[in-house]
Amino acid sequence: MLIILQAGSTKEDVKHVVAELAGVSITGYPAHNQGREVICLSQHLNIELRTWLHTVCPLVERVLDIKAPYKLASAEYKPRPSSVLVGQGSGQVRVGPGNFVVMAGPCTIESEEQLFKTAAVVKQAGANILRGGAFKPRTSPYSFQGMGVEGLKLLQRAGQQYNMPTVTEVMESAYVEAVAEYADILQVGARNMQNFPLLREVGLAGKPVLLKRGPSATLEEWLMAAEYILATGNEQVILCERGIKGFDPSTRNVLDLGGVVAVQEKTHLPVIVDPSHATGKRSLVTPLGLAAAAIGANGIMVECHPHPEQALCDGAQSILPGQLCELVKGVHNVTAAVREIYEPIEAVEVAA
Ligand code: PEP
Ligand code: MN
Repeated sequence: MLIILQAGSTKEDVKHVVAELAGVSITGYPAHNQGREVICLSQHLNIELRTWLHTVCPLVERVLDIKAPYKLASAEYKPRPSSVLVGQGSGQVRVGPGNFVVMAGPCTIESEEQLFKTAAVVKQAGANILRGGAFKPRTSPYSFQGMGVEGLKLLQRAGQQYNMPTVTEVMESAYVEAVAEYADILQVGARNMQNFPLLREVGLAGKPVLLKRGPSATLEEWLMAAEYILATGNEQVILCERGIKGFDPSTRNVLDLGGVVAVQEKTHLPVIVDPSHATGKRSLVTPLGLAAAAIGANGIMVECHPHPEQALCDGAQSILPGQLCELVKGVHNVTAAVREIYEPIEAVEVAA
């Protein structure tokens, strides 16, 4: 259930409601959402309890019976799709219905030259957001682990030079502050999707968060992870499907496009698709990127490298500059062709 307090209610009013609930052995979890003080409950309140609550707490405006275990993320709570605003000023980008975004850049930032070269390509191709890893979750401790804070600084400079918001992964709480200082979107990688303390920390950083789906996560687990971020009062969550574990080694993962459509029915949050990590193969990135546009996803994130054969990470799935140009054109053509099917009923904007 969700208890919504009247506009203008204070944290003290929230405390009062939580205390009243505690008096009848019900735990309420305060959150702030859509400009309102909200209290989330995992249990159901029957009609007697609701009537009692309205009497002892006159500031309770509404009690919503949301069946899904994720409350703030649910389409039951917010039937209209949300948008997330990323970046500042003239470079600001809206991620949400009616604006298919392309996030592109290298898997990992390797040097100033490599990043700026790629950023130029990304801009020229017409992509909107620059990606680049500074902290890399590598399977082997002996593989390149990323440039760290030095990489973050390069990413910020490249974003400024090409007037594009940036996205980069944060792997541990200790670096949330640094990543939030230099980047516009904090990415929580697939392997950390259920790192609950990290989810809280990125939520509290107050910046947009790109939450990747865990390789073996159900849609419900993914949305519960998003709920951790939303529960901190941060509404700027973008979901990213990046493939789940399969049994056929022909592709790195299995891109769950059906899951993307299904999750869009369950949540108002924007959903993008990463065909690079889903496939692990350059030749498959464009077809699946186009497929993402065809099913009504809100964007894609792809890896691109001017010299993929020299890449320190994920060269095999990094597309070439020319391929990125074709892909960007292609997704916009596909989006235009299917627009009438997915035309949103007026999107709800989320303040940055
Ligand atoms: C990435 O986008 O750099 C990445 C490591 O992706 P994932 O977490 O999906 O594996
Ligand atoms: Mn990668």
